[in-house]
Amino acid sequence: MSALPGLPVETDLPGRVGVLVLGAGLAGCAALLAAAEAGRYALLLEKTGEIGGSTVKSAGLSAFAGTDEQAEQGIADSVELLREDLVEVGRGRGDPALIDLYCEHQLAAYRWLKEHGVRYGEIHAASGQSAPRSHPADTTRMLHLLLAAAGARGARVVLGAPAHRLLHDGARVTGVRLADGREVLADAVVLATGGFSMNPELLAAFAPQMENALRQGGAGNQGDGLKMAMALGAGLRDTPYIKGTYGHYHVEHPDEDGTGILAVYKGAIAVNREGRRFVDESRNYKEIGDAALAQPGVTTWQVFDARTMALANDEVPIYEFAGRERAGMLLSSGTVAGLEAAIGLPGGSLQRTVAEYNAALRDGRADAFGRAHLSGGVGDPTPIDRPPFYAHPSGTVVLATYCGLTVDTRMRVLDWWGEPIGRLYAAGEITGGFHGAGYMTGTSIGKSGVFGRLAGRNAADEESELQW
Ligand SMILES: Cc1cc2nc3c(=O)[nH]c(=O)nc-3n(C[C@H](O)[C@H](O)[C@H](O)COP(=O)(O)OP(=O)(O)OC[C@H]3O[C@@H](n4cnc5c(N)ncnc54)[C@H](O)[C@@H]3O)c2cc1C
Repeated sequence: MSALPGLPVETDLPGRVGVLVLGAGLAGCAALLAAAEAGRYALLLEKTGEIGGSTVKSAGLSAFAGTDEQAEQGIADSVELLREDLVEVGRGRGDPALIDLYCEHQLAAYRWLKEHGVRYGEIHAASGQSAPRSHPADTTRMLHLLLAAAGARGARVVLGAPAHRLLHDGARVTGVRLADGREVLADAVVLATGGFSMNPELLAAFAPQMENALRQGGAGNQGDGLKMAMALGAGLRDTPYIKGTYGHYHVEHPDEDGTGILAVYKGAIAVNREGRRFVDESRNYKEIGDAALAQPGVTTWQVFDARTMALANDEVPIYEFAGRERAGMLLSSGTVAGLEAAIGLPGGSLQRTVAEYNAALRDGRADAFGRAHLSGGVGDPTPIDRPPFYAHPSGTVVLATYCGLTVDTRMRVLDWWGEPIGRLYAAGEITGGFHGAGYMTGTSIGKSGVFGRLAGRNAADEESELQW
């Protein structure tokens, strides 16, 4: 998303502001608006020439519980169930204070976003959710709405302005220096520079297990903010839990929008280059991603039939099988033998795998990998026997880094001793502690909106040296 008309984008850099926000993804835009609503002169610096970061590349799903849309669709969900799921999916490693904070503020943030014009589509279930709570929204429109509202309250945005170093007077952060040497002083700084999925060196340092994974995200997401805060002694959380997502087309393709597809959750099996299955396909897509990375050549295929194709839904990116067929991203054949040859698998291998899978289902025998459902605990596996047959080349992609700076419940950045680094705040993918050892779909966009708003508001509470 480049600068759209009506946005408060400027080229001049003020020398001093109240709240300085770094990064124009959802966390930064929410922080900017919240600070402006609190009456502060707020400025956002974005490194690239575009607004959006990973936010506008995403599938746009937010995890909220207790919403109007859920009620309209007759979905029973609650804040308590959300809290239980978050604790469970993070295997108890998520910071309970941040989980509580999210649960306490998610509905207010959802209402705030809606008041600013954000609209959510049909809710569906996804990874780690025991009730459907993935709320899809157009994220480009969302950011535009937040920035336009912030601009109406005097906030400003400067694009192509990469923050390079945090300025610190020994007691607190006082502003930033840009890569070109210019400086902006501020009463408080909010780091919202996203994760580091596009920085191979940082990935190698924190997640060597992702060496063979593909990478996706905003072009500017190189971990700049993380490094700037680490230079001031900031602590880190959750770095061991960086995971990749399964289902991404593993060859560069102009129609790969970055989300991949998950035909496995509608009936497909996943096979490796030996034509063998390698995982219980109902597991969450991070675990399947790990299993796929361990396969020879890290190349796998999701194999399905006409029955699964009939469940395609072009409205939901991960179920957009028909769209991918139209884009020429699927291999297909009238027979399993033909599909096996089209993929280039060893002769007879896929035919054997499909025959064994179908026979176990027909005879009611336990699945070789323990698969009892389609996705999580939902849906019954179906045989792969209705032509035509399809294969989608599928790899594991790091879309987000899930770990990052240690923050407290005011979104203040903490050092390794748990002490706040004066007047430094952070929100969004740059922060750690919330997801723990696992991941619920929609909680990255969710935490960017919920915690971004809080960070902006709390930063605005800092004592001001600015008259405006
Ligand atoms: C393909 C894909 C699909 C996804 N789908 C989902 C989903 O459906 N649901 C979900 O919850 N999550 C999803 N995610 C993850 C989610 O999109 C991100 O975690 C979230 O949008 C991060 O928001 P953010 O505001 O923290 O960072 P971003 O949106 O990445 O924004 C950070 C911004 O900071 C800028 N920046 C970086 N360094 C500097 C600097 N030095 N100075 C100034 N600016 C800087 C960047 O250029 C960027 O614009 C997906 C991610 C991808 C890639």
